[in-house]
Amino acid sequence: MELGDNYGRVATDLRVSLTDRCNLRCSYCMPEEGLDWLEKQTLLTDDEIVRLIRVGVEQLGIREVRFTGGEPLLRRGLVDIVSRTTALVPRPEVSLTTNALGLSKLARPLAEAGLDRVNVSLDTVRPESFEEITRRDRFHDVVEGLAAAKAAGLGPVKVNAVLLRGLNDDQAPELLTWCLEHGYDLRFIEQMPLDAQHGWDRAAMVTAEEILASLQTRFDLSPAVEPRGSAPAELFLVDGGPATVGVIASVTRPFCGDCDRVRLTADGQVRNCLFAREESDLRTALRAGADDQELAQRWVLAMRGKLPGHGIDDPTFLQPDRPMSAIGG
Ligand code: SAM
Ligand code: SF4
Repeated sequence: MELGDNYGRVATDLRVSLTDRCNLRCSYCMPEEGLDWLEKQTLLTDDEIVRLIRVGVEQLGIREVRFTGGEPLLRRGLVDIVSRTTALVPRPEVSLTTNALGLSKLARPLAEAGLDRVNVSLDTVRPESFEEITRRDRFHDVVEGLAAAKAAGLGPVKVNAVLLRGLNDDQAPELLTWCLEHGYDLRFIEQMPLDAQHGWDRAAMVTAEEILASLQTRFDLSPAVEPRGSAPAELFLVDGGPATVGVIASVTRPFCGDCDRVRLTADGQVRNCLFAREESDLRTALRAGADDQELAQRWVLAMRGKLPGHGIDDPTFLQPDRPMSAIGG
């Protein structure tokens, strides 16, 4: 079996959200006061998470597993979940998307558990802008976390940045300079309508085109030759290479036609798209005693309804009820 949809796409990349909680409050993601967190009894246990990943890997052709959240480093069983995932056959590639708070302590145990790579979210290299965007004074913890990830061999370490109008939209060149100095691969992501507060405004969004124009004031960018494939980032060589910078134009140049992703939320719902308005409940079946075969069949069925695109620019577009932090970005 495989996770195919009605448009010929096959999902091989599984994003697993380990919690909807977070220790930052990025303004484009969550309100200052936080959210009503998922109820504890609805959260999958470590064993349940590993079981579903195993079904995906053994029966459904999942080749890549990325842990995310909320903030996945807040999940107590993370190292154990990673080591049980990397022990699966065939061994999937395993990575983590994190804000890096606490990564200075966890990078080594995670590397020893088999984690292959990390993506760290960092939108600015100015401590005061960091506090403004994330509502927490933790910039230096992120810097330490990044250094620890690199030292532990969790590379190439990628940095993901979102630019926000009036906050850090003038900071693209300095972010790139800093990442080049530290040997991190920088990717900019267009802001998407997935914030819990529904504050996203298409007109105010900083576009990929604008980001590239801003970078070109300081750097020479040329398209990198490697094919984009299903990877969402468009890559550019910086000043002739070998360093690159990427731009993920989810809104202005969508890549839905090449999507190979599927998502599992911390409460056991399969989402066939970030923007899906429907999800498929695997938790109830799992807890009712479904065997691997039945879980796999339910998962296959969940993919059939995957829409051809996110439709952000359609007049009828409706943001999903679940915010990014509870979906797993
Ligand atoms: N807490 C972890 C982190 O920040 O890396 C993992 C979860 S976070 C939801 C995953 C990624 O989604 C981060 O890179 C974050 O910048 C991005 N993100 C959150 N809200 C977004 C939005 N509205 N538009 C675009 N990216 C967003
Ligand atoms: Fe937390 Fe990540 Fe959302 Fe920021 S983007 S509030 S770090 S989940």
